[in-house]
Amino acid sequence: MLELGLSSRALLREMVAREGYAFDFSSTGKLLVYQDQAAYALACRQLQMHDATTGGQRILSRRDCLEMEPALQAGGHGIVGGIFMPEEDAGDCLKLCVQMHRQLSAASHNVTFRFNTEVRGFRFSGQQVVGLETDGPSLSADAYVIANGLGAQKLGLAAGFNPMIHPLKGYSLTYELTEKSRAPARSVSDIHRKVVYARLGNRLRVAGMVDIGDRDSGVTARRIDLLKSQVNALLPELAPAAQPKVWAGMRPARPDSTPLIGATPCGNLWINAGHGMLGFTLAAGSARLLADRLTGRPCAVQRNAFALH
Ligand SMILES: Cc1cc2nc3c(=O)[nH]c(=O)nc-3n(C[C@H](O)[C@H](O)[C@H](O)COP(=O)(O)OP(=O)(O)OC[C@H]3O[C@@H](n4cnc5c(N)ncnc54)[C@H](O)[C@@H]3O)c2cc1C
Repeated sequence: MLELGLSSRALLREMVAREGYAFDFSSTGKLLVYQDQAAYALACRQLQMHDATTGGQRILSRRDCLEMEPALQAGGHGIVGGIFMPEEDAGDCLKLCVQMHRQLSAASHNVTFRFNTEVRGFRFSGQQVVGLETDGPSLSADAYVIANGLGAQKLGLAAGFNPMIHPLKGYSLTYELTEKSRAPARSVSDIHRKVVYARLGNRLRVAGMVDIGDRDSGVTARRIDLLKSQVNALLPELAPAAQPKVWAGMRPARPDSTPLIGATPCGNLWINAGHGMLGFTLAAGSARLLADRLTGRPCAVQRNAFALH
C-alpha cells in the first residue's frame, strides 16, 4: 500500500506540473495531533522504528503543534503532541475530475463519457465478455474495467467472483472561510476524535465517521450534528462565512483494506475497485498499475499485491 501511495503521489504531482490543473492542490504536509498520551507515545515509537521509510516525518511537542497551527490554540487544550508529515498533499478531487473531464472531452483524445448510464450486467461468450447491458444501448469493447466503487460488488458477482466490497459510510462538512476565520493552514488529523481537516484554498473540508452496514446514502442529521460539535471543540474560533455544506458518501471498502487492481477470471475483464478511505490518494497509482497490466508493460508497483485470489 505504501508503494502504491508513493507511486500515486509522484504521478499526481507529475500530472499537476504537466497539465497545470487548478484544484486547490497544496503540498504543505499534514499534522497529526494527539490528545491521548499513550497513543502519542505509541505513534512516536512506531515512527522511530521505521525512521528510514517515513519521508522526513517529525515528532512535535504540544508547543510545536500550536506554533505550527495557531488556529489550534483556542481549542487545543488537550493536545499532548503531534507528528508532522511534510510530504503529504491535499486537493479537491471534484475540481480535478471536472478539469480532467473537460480536457479529455477534446476530440483529439478520442474519449467518450456516458453519464447517467447504468451498467446492469455483462454478455459473455465462454470466459470472455462480449458486451455490456446498460439502461440505454448495449456497449461492446475489446477490454472492460470494473471501476464503479461500491457497485463493483454487484458486477463482480455477475462475472462469477466475489470482490468483497462493502460500504463504510462517512460524512464531510465544507466551510467557506473569510479573513476573520481561524482555520488550519495545512491538513490536520485529530487522532482522538478521528476527524480530518483539509485546507482547500479558502475552504476547510472536514471529514469523519465510519458507519458500518448503513446502505442509505442520505445525510443523517444526528451524525452531522456530532461532526459539527467535534469541529467546534477543536476550532471554537473558526468563524466561517456560513453554515457548512454537508455531504455523505460510501467508502467502497474490503475486509483487509486493500483494493483489487488487476485481472479477473474473465479474460478481457479487469477490476480497479475497493479503495476504501484512500480512493483519491491511491487513484493515480492504481490507474497506472491497471494500465500496465492491461497493456503488458512492466509494472511500477508489485503486480500481484492487489490481485484477486
Ligand atoms: C467522508 C469521506 C471522506 C473521504 N476522504 C478521503 C480522503 O481524504 N482521501 C482519499 O483518498 N479518499 C477519501 N475518501 C474515499 C474516497 O471517496 C473513495 O475511496 C473513492 O471515492 C472511491 O472511488 P471509486 O471511483 O472506486 O468509487 P466512487 O467514488 O464511489 O465512484 C463510483 C461511481 O460509479 C458509479 N456506478 C456505480 N455502479 C454503477 C453502474 N452499475 N453503472 C454505472 N455507474 C455506476 C457511481 O454512481 C459512482 O459515480 C473519503 C470518503 C468519504 C465517504
